[in-house]
Amino acid sequence: MRFANSAGRAFVLRDEISGWDLAAASEGRFSADPMQMWSRHEEIRAWARDADAEAAVPVRPEDLDAPVPTPGAIVAIGLNYAEHAAETGFEPPTELPPVFAKFPSAITGAHGTVTLPEGGSTDWEVEVVAVVGAEMHQVPEERVFAHLAGLTIGQDLSERTRQFSGPAPQFGLAKSYPGFAPIGPWVVSMDELADPNDLELGCSVDGTVVQSGTTARLLFSIPRSLSELSKVLTLRPGDLVFTGTPDGVGMGMNPPTYLQPGQTLETWVGGIGRMTHVMA
Ligand code: ZN
Repeated sequence: MRFANSAGRAFVLRDEISGWDLAAASEGRFSADPMQMWSRHEEIRAWARDADAEAAVPVRPEDLDAPVPTPGAIVAIGLNYAEHAAETGFEPPTELPPVFAKFPSAITGAHGTVTLPEGGSTDWEVEVVAVVGAEMHQVPEERVFAHLAGLTIGQDLSERTRQFSGPAPQFGLAKSYPGFAPIGPWVVSMDELADPNDLELGCSVDGTVVQSGTTARLLFSIPRSLSELSKVLTLRPGDLVFTGTPDGVGMGMNPPTYLQPGQTLETWVGGIGRMTHVMA
């Protein structure tokens, strides 16, 4: 099942061009607010199994906005692939990799324009993003997937000059300019993914593939990462976890190479879909 936000309203997709407006098709049983989908994702999935095909309406790709438009928290995991840790000059972590926050105002959808901030060193980081569906605190690894509403695609866009200047790294600010947390185009429920522990992910700049990896290469798998986070944090429905990026980021290139105005960044995760952004 795919959960989406079409022009600000909660949708369940039937295919890529049609779906059910959740509030209208359920006659008010479910809210039109996309943020209300996550804690009720199981109920919605059960309802959608028998939903009336006649009640489905066309969905225009350009109307799809960020499926989780106002997450309570965006938690991100750094250095979670060994080759990426190496290319950025860090030792691969043996304990839980570094954890930082992206601020929710950085959220945008799976298409459109991202305005590059001054500095000239905005970098790409394709990531699989977990969408929390049930409150998680001290959840064991084997119970993590049961607490997720699904997975989506994310870009952890990062302004490297700001990130690494000053007495201590500025991860949170450098990764939270407007549009620096694109997600979407929809959230795919866990039951629809063949193997969430082996999803291909990648991105290209103007058609040249720069990152290509699989979640099978994560140092801390998605369930292990979230279980570790939940030892400290309480994650709530609608919170997002960016799970880390594979190697191939611009700062690891020789010379370092960053996004330029006019370039097109395409981002994909197997079994989920694709995002396209133009830099301005
Ligand atoms: Zn990242």
